[in-house]
Amino acid sequence: MASRFYVETLGCPKNEVDSEKLVGTLLAQGLTATDDETQADVVVVNTCAFIEEARKESIDTILALSERRKKGARLVVTGCMAERYGDELRANLPEADQIAGFGVAIESGVTAPATAVTLGRKPGIALTAQPVPSFDLLNLPRPASRTPWAYVKIAEGCDRTCGFCAIPSFRGPQRSRDVASILREVDELQAKEIVLVAQDLASYGKDRPEELGAGSIVELVRQVSAKVPRTRLLYLYPSDLSDELIDAILASGVPYFDLSLQHVSKAHLRRMRRWGDGERFLKRIADIRSREADATFRSNFIVGYPGETEDDHDQLLSFVREASLDWCGFFEYSPEEGTYAVNLPDQVPAGLMHERIAELRELQDAITASKRDELIDAVVEVLVDEPGVGRSHREAPQIDGIIRVPTALAVGSFATVRIADAQGPDLVAEGADANDGSAQGADHAG
Ligand code: SF4
Repeated sequence: MASRFYVETLGCPKNEVDSEKLVGTLLAQGLTATDDETQADVVVVNTCAFIEEARKESIDTILALSERRKKGARLVVTGCMAERYGDELRANLPEADQIAGFGVAIESGVTAPATAVTLGRKPGIALTAQPVPSFDLLNLPRPASRTPWAYVKIAEGCDRTCGFCAIPSFRGPQRSRDVASILREVDELQAKEIVLVAQDLASYGKDRPEELGAGSIVELVRQVSAKVPRTRLLYLYPSDLSDELIDAILASGVPYFDLSLQHVSKAHLRRMRRWGDGERFLKRIADIRSREADATFRSNFIVGYPGETEDDHDQLLSFVREASLDWCGFFEYSPEEGTYAVNLPDQVPAGLMHERIAELRELQDAITASKRDELIDAVVEVLVDEPGVGRSHREAPQIDGIIRVPTALAVGSFATVRIADAQGPDLVAEGADANDGSAQGADHAG
């Protein structure tokens, strides 16, 4: 019987894409997938190292899977933690048989090691020693999507130097993929909605000035939109949101703007080593709304970054009130090793951080609920993700709320429904079954 593998994915959508590529590679090499970790010959944990909490969850998961795996099964740790803390993990995690950073993917040893992956080794099968560059992982094939939507990662790494962020230090500088490889992946996925992701999406192409160049995200969005009914963009750094990009998004079938704002106080944004200020952001948002009344907005904010004063916090509260965004995620600042901010003075005490974030979340929850109430009686087009669950352009998969729809609607189809009720972040369409318990509405770090 073919060796079986089990993959557990933690962290962000970008990690899910990596996992799918690992799965695609292992399947191509003749292994079979299993949902039962106790039956797998190879157990892979794709970890997240975003903040302390994510690292703890990754370690807990590794240890739990190590306990549950069957005798002789290999445990492989990959993803951000493996990349960032590889040496420490190797020294302190004897449970893991292999720690594989992004440059070292997974190989069954069953066929020729063309992709040089070293994951599924069985006794007696030689490991391939040379790591492959992480860029190769980006361009590996993927199986058709199991859901009507799918993430597509268009670049890896980041060239910015935001004070709180360790990502560039372990994901490296930005490397944009070829347009042809992205479009091929879109075709392979056979999904109705493609969600483009990267660390800094709007910077796509800047690292390849000869072939692509700044602003090439616009043409890419147009080309992807020509292939699928819906193209959604996640994580837009606000300075690169050009008029052309706004036009391309408005024409993509998904007028949804995920703006990575992080704060609005100008002085504080400079401390964060970021661009912009609340006034500019409000102007841009108003401008987009004047072009498309149905435009939906999401953003993320960091609360309690060193030096955040009462005045900075008040500015953020006023902005949240005035901008009236559909969705917002608020995250407590977490000092990250190797970042600019880790040694800054004026660290905000934890108690104050909790108070500030609670105040912001309470305010935003009320705004989100009232925006959802306003949709009662509206007629919207949904994509049916699973029986009884759909999404319009206003809801990003796995991040925002959902729309409950009649279970008779076929998964993968588009349907036009009338909204009959709102329940917090979720909407209920006419004819939907009573509460089926599949509400989402979770925020995401991004
Ligand atoms: S926060 Fe985003 S844009 Fe800033 S350095 Fe990190 S990945 Fe890059």
